[in-house]
Amino acid sequence: MNKTINLKIKSRFVEEYQDKYPLIQKEIFQNIEDLNEEGIIINLLSPNNKFIAKGYYGRQNKGYGWVLSYNKEEQIDKTFFINKIKNAITYRKDFYEDAKNNITTAFRVLNGEGDKLGGLTIDYFDGYYMLTWYSLGIYSFKNTILEALQEVLKQDKTYKGIYEKKRFDTKGQYLDSKSDFVCGLQAPAPIIVRENNVNFAVYLDDGAMTGIFLDQKDVRKNIRDKYANKKTMLNAFSYTGAFSIYAALGGAKKTTSVDLAKRSLLKTSEQFEVNNIDVNSQEIIVDDVFNYFKYAVKKQFKFDMVVLDPPSFARSKKITFSVSKDYVKLLKEAIQITNKNGIIVASTNSANFGIMKFRQFIEKAFKELKEKYEILETFSLPKDFKVDDNFRQGNYLKVVFIKKK
Ligand code: SAH
Repeated sequence: MNKTINLKIKSRFVEEYQDKYPLIQKEIFQNIEDLNEEGIIINLLSPNNKFIAKGYYGRQNKGYGWVLSYNKEEQIDKTFFINKIKNAITYRKDFYEDAKNNITTAFRVLNGEGDKLGGLTIDYFDGYYMLTWYSLGIYSFKNTILEALQEVLKQDKTYKGIYEKKRFDTKGQYLDSKSDFVCGLQAPAPIIVRENNVNFAVYLDDGAMTGIFLDQKDVRKNIRDKYANKKTMLNAFSYTGAFSIYAALGGAKKTTSVDLAKRSLLKTSEQFEVNNIDVNSQEIIVDDVFNYFKYAVKKQFKFDMVVLDPPSFARSKKITFSVSKDYVKLLKEAIQITNKNGIIVASTNSANFGIMKFRQFIEKAFKELKEKYEILETFSLPKDFKVDDNFRQGNYLKVVFIKKK
């Protein structure tokens, strides 16, 4: 059992936590001397000793831990986690239904604080459950959470096995680490999962990432179903080419995928192959997007659709890219190589700014180039990435479909 301590918070924070703000922040405490071991259960008390909430201490890039309950008597035990997991599964029953019908067999089952369990996510990949731990604090509950999960999964006839990824280190820094098999059956590498009837090769035990970002599922589908037909598409920061696969399946004339990582060539080819698309009819380029843009502008290449989905932050040999600093520049390059009436899909997963600021970047880029545009649609996280109403910054994804006029 994890130890429990009582900690008083400063009076100016009381209301916020009574109003169910879930993230525990360092500055709310009067004294943090007793916070010496991740995983400690903290009772948050008002300055006059009134119980407000209980949570755990776990340092991650955001904050010092998460609130778990507003009931003073509630134990953070197996039953507690069983309830959280059951509720999360019930909320995704449509996804389980789609999985049964082999339409979509990869989705998020539990989304951290969105499912009132900050610091942990659980993804479903065709019967395999992938747990991602974001702090040592939440990881200290591993055995209890695993028991709870296995108990709940007795009901899941598709259950095969459990994997985990640890995205923390002991200094509280955000860190990708090797993924690990936990229990049950071991998955083949790759397993083929489905998403909206599209195949994806997914690696559950291959380092930090599986090969697919599940939060973009609605955007991918939209590209395939509404925009791709007979279009040429440039997919910048393409990773394993997910947007390109969907575009090709939506009838795109040709896709061009650009990513700096050498592995992206093989990974993207593989995704085309598992969907029976001739890789030779597509282009896959390993290059810095900024280099490629320069080249494409010089050569006067034009595309009907350009997808921009950069990481929030990236360092390559020559440049450091940060979304809030460089998105306008990126957009300006994209605008120059987009055909009139063409579509730019501008995406960011940066939690540091909201949709208003993102729209200002778009406005600025077009204005500086004296070009006109129309915003057609915007997307944020899909339904399985449940967001806590009291923690809107958890809805980090912003995707805007822009028509260049
Ligand atoms: N759009 C992808 C996910 C992108 S992840 C998808 O939907 O699956 C970000 C990718 O950007 C990584 O694959 C990384 O290798 C790549 N990247 C980072 N900096 C880059 C740069 N300067 N030029 C090209 N690719 C870059």
